[in-house]
Parts: sequence; structure tokens; C-alpha cells
Amino acid sequence: MSSERIYLSPPAMSAADLSALTEAFQSNWIAPVGPALDAFEAEICRRTGARHAVGLSSGTAALHLALLEVGVKPGDTVFCSTLSFAASANAICYCGAKPVFIDSERESWNMDPAVLEQALRAAAERGKLPAAVEVVQAYGQCADMEAIEALCAQYGVPLVEDAAEALGASYRGRSAGTFGAAGVFSFNGNKLITTSGGGMLVTEDSELARRVRYLSTQAREPGREYVHHEVGYNYRLSNLLAAVGHSQLLQLDEKIARRREIFAGYVEALSDLPGVSFMPEAAHGMCTRWLTSLLVDKDKSGVDRDAVLDALEADNIEARPLWRPLHTQPCFADCEVFSTGVADALFAQGVSLPSSGNLTEAQQARVVAAIRGVFR
Ligand SMILES: *Cc1c(COP(=O)(O)O)cnc(C)c1O
Repeated sequence: MSSERIYLSPPAMSAADLSALTEAFQSNWIAPVGPALDAFEAEICRRTGARHAVGLSSGTAALHLALLEVGVKPGDTVFCSTLSFAASANAICYCGAKPVFIDSERESWNMDPAVLEQALRAAAERGKLPAAVEVVQAYGQCADMEAIEALCAQYGVPLVEDAAEALGASYRGRSAGTFGAAGVFSFNGNKLITTSGGGMLVTEDSELARRVRYLSTQAREPGREYVHHEVGYNYRLSNLLAAVGHSQLLQLDEKIARRREIFAGYVEALSDLPGVSFMPEAAHGMCTRWLTSLLVDKDKSGVDRDAVLDALEADNIEARPLWRPLHTQPCFADCEVFSTGVADALFAQGVSLPSSGNLTEAQQARVVAAIRGVFR
């Protein structure tokens, strides 16, 4: 392999990000808390319209605290989208609860409200409702939130939004993350904006925000004696990383525009191939196109997902299948699932392509050529 490796979604960092980091460093606000963290939280509120934001060490930590604060306890169940990264369900397990997986709809690839309804009805009949519903906004797109919110309200079950992949996405004009009791963003290395590692919890509930701040700093009471009434966590976001996040966040619109442009480029260059289709943008909202994902229908094309992945790898290009549905993960084999086969079918056919804001035209052309080569 002679050509330079093309990665799936490497960070896109700017000179402004570096200055922000240097400035925070020189100010000696190194430890968690500091002016950059305050500014990052304020900017997340401004961007999303959320009332409160709490910077945390990861999206997973944010999910963990969100679930604890809506009352998830050992022995509970939590309904969770099955088409997601393991972190969505891991956070449920940290609470001592068990995930129950809910299948996707074709329109958004996210939680199917009809399946959620069926699962809630079955749970009510059994007399054991879930302690929460955790809806995942996968690949930069919102689920059908009005339908899901209405069902949660009808059954009196709190809603938590895993919007780790969906910062900047919207549903009927409302920002991802602002539905339900709490929403969560991730700033991991391959997300739309990154702090290298970090997360944020947003909520309308001032008491929930206060509790999350408290739990994330070891549940330490104010005062000189370090009194603790509860066991807390070391989950606060570092001020240095918040400086990077704040700077990145100021470029969010350009980053989304670039990802959408990359998506449009792939659509233009590949749509004529037999059996190839792209992740739909549901009529209810705006998808950030965090990753460009396509489906390859073997019956129509004679080409399967793995042939595409193999061809890309052979040209030193990183691509991935979609998320393996969580109900098929060995570590969740004993968890219940409400399946219609949609997530399984998406996984069998889906490929995510290099989508970084840094992707050059020449690199994108290489990805396109490698894929077209499989269909020749
Ligand atoms: C990235 C991701 C997470 C976890 O976020 P971290 O910041 O890596 O802990 C959770 N859920 C989904 C859907 C993700 O993609």
C-alpha cells in the first residue's frame, strides 16, 4: 500500500483551537473548572437553546449521571435504541440496570415509535415499566421525537437523549439534546467537534443540573472539611479541554456545512450504482451528516457490504459497518429485545465512509474510485 491512509473521521483542528488551548494553559486554569469551562457551557446553551449545561469527562459519564438522576436503580430496566455504540447501553449497566433494546425505523434509522409503543404496552401489562427510555440520535440525525416524547409522557417514563453523535442536528427546528429530562453530547476524537475526550449534559431542570455538577465533583459539600453525604464521581471536564471545545463549537455551522457537502459529493458520485442508497434525511429534521453512510443491496448489485469494506481497506481507506445492533452483542446476549429486523438489515448492508471535515477532494475521489471499482 503506497497511498496515504484516509481515516473515517479524524479530528479537524484549527489554529484558533490551538490558541484557545494555549490561552487556557497560560492562564493556569488547568484543573477542572475555570473560565473556559463556563464559556463552553454557556455557548452550548446558546447553540442548543438548553437552559443548563454541565461539562463532563465523556459522553458516557454524562449518560451515566443522566440515568442516575432520572432515578435508574439496580434491578431496573431501561429501554434503549439498539442501533448504537456500546456506550449507550454500558451507562445503563453502570446503574445496575438492564437494557431492553428497541429496533429502528427506516425513515431515520433511529428508535421506531411503533416498536417503543409495543414494548411499553408489554411492560405495563407485566406491571414493570422501564425506569427510563434512552433514545439515541444516531449518525447526526434525530429520531421521531414528538412521537417518542408523547409515549414517554403517556406511560410516565422519563426520557434521556443520547445525542452524542448529533450536536447541531434538529427536529422540527428544535436542537437535538433538548428533548426529555436530559440530553447528552460527546466530544470524543471522531465526533463532529472534539475536545480529545469530553462530554456535556444539557437539561431544562436546574435541580438536575445542580445535582449532576455535584455528583461529577465527588459529591463534595462546600466547606473546608470535605464532607460527603453521597458517593460521587470524578467526571468533570477539564478547563483545558473545555477551551478546545469552546473554540470548536464556534465553528459548528461550518463543520456541519462541510459534512453535508461531503455527503452530497458521495451521493452525486455513487447514486447511479445499482443497489446503492444513502441514509435518508427524515422529513422531521436536519441531519448533520456526521458520517456519510450508505447501504449496498446485494440482491440488486451482486455486491455485498464486506466487498465494499475490503476494497476500501485494500486502498488504505478506513470505513466501517454501521453500529452492530446492541442486541447482537455478546455482552448483552441476555437482554430482552423488541426487534422488527430493521437494525439487523441496516447492519448487514451499511457502510460508513470517511467524512471528516479535513477530507480533501482528492481523498474523496479516491474513496469513490475504490467503491466504483467493486461494481465494475
Ligand atoms: C461516542 C458515543 C457515546 C460515548 O461518548 P464518549 O464521549 O466517547 O464517552 C455514547 N453514545 C453514542 C451513540 C456515541 O456515539
